Amino acid sequence: MKGGLVMRDLHFKPIVPLLLLLAFLGFWLLWKNPSHQELHATTRLAMGTLVSVSTWGATEAEDENGVNWVFSRIKEVESWASKQIPSSLVYKINHSPKGTLLEVPEELVTVVHTGLEIRNLSGGAFDPGLGYLVDLWGFGNGVAEEGKIPETQKIAAWLEERNKHHDFGIQWVKTANGGMAIQWGGFAYELDLGGIAKGYAMDLAMESLKLSGIPNALIVAGGDMIIAGSKGGKPWRIGIQHPRDHNKVMAFAEITGDMAMSTSGDYERFFMANGERQHHILDPKTGKPSRSGLISVSIQTSTSIKADALSTAVFVLGMKEGKALIEKLDGVEGMLVHENGERWKSPGFKGQWLEGS
Ligand code: FAD
Ligand code: MG
Repeated sequence: MKGGLVMRDLHFKPIVPLLLLLAFLGFWLLWKNPSHQELHATTRLAMGTLVSVSTWGATEAEDENGVNWVFSRIKEVESWASKQIPSSLVYKINHSPKGTLLEVPEELVTVVHTGLEIRNLSGGAFDPGLGYLVDLWGFGNGVAEEGKIPETQKIAAWLEERNKHHDFGIQWVKTANGGMAIQWGGFAYELDLGGIAKGYAMDLAMESLKLSGIPNALIVAGGDMIIAGSKGGKPWRIGIQHPRDHNKVMAFAEITGDMAMSTSGDYERFFMANGERQHHILDPKTGKPSRSGLISVSIQTSTSIKADALSTAVFVLGMKEGKALIEKLDGVEGMLVHENGERWKSPGFKGQWLEGS
């Protein structure tokens, strides 16, 4: 027995340190070799905002491939949904003579239809047809350098034209080959997909990452973000900006699994005039920046297209009606901040207020 033990000891002794050395070497190589780095982060400019993509657990080559896909999908959406690019379909629709029929791809139909669905749900607070108004206020391309309030008559003319139609004012027509065409409805119905198309692009971006074999990622574009999987078994940690102090985080969330979150605020694009903040989220009922009292709205749900549009809708609806809409919708959670200091979050909202924020 004793001899056997000695024999075993002699047999194992040189192997244990060797295994330890190999394990150490393996870890060291993984750590040193950037192609095995666990977290990759890339930021590029798209859709007038910074888009950052973080992936976890992919090799450098996998990450590069996935990120390229992400930005090509986003650019694709931008190429037809942008109101700013003259070759885009939305630009063509908005700049054609009234009544012009233009054949449109299924993607545009999906985005406009989802926008109209949210328009119905929100009693018109969200509206994908505010192009003329958004430009009138100077928010079509960021913020006008010396922003000024538009002439009252121009806003009144828009409201008058708007009130002539009970429906949306844009017609859909089926084409002979089974496709879809859109008939432009006039200046009161210019498309502006700024409150929804970024969300749609984020859904496609995350789908591309997953298809390219990356199941763990976080994509952030301005106030919109989409999450998948985890960060090496740990949740992704995200911060929500304080609406009155852009250096401060107001709340944070730890999220694992698939989820989209979108934040709409009056601090993103605004100018000061008449002692008031003239911001980019417009109330279709007044033709002016929303004065619902809400200054920040975050929505969490399963798709980014819905989170994006709903955060804008709830912002315009205000605290009471906004809360009611969130509570009515399955799988939709929200976090609302009023200018009077009142704060509310639905019980299922993933995130906590930060003390002293
Ligand atoms: P959200 O609250 O999600 O949306 C607010 C935006 O929605 C407003 O800016 C307006 O466009 C629209 N909106 C306002 N009121 C309403 C309402 N009641 N209902 C529905 N919609 C409303 N910006 C640039 O400066 N340069 C660009 O080249 C540029 N290209 C873009 C291309 C695309 C495809 C998209 C989608 C946006 C682009 N933008 C561009 C816009 C820019 O990124 C906006 O800041 C962004 O769309 C606003 O998003 P948000 O999440 O901050 O606000
Ligand atoms: Mg949004």
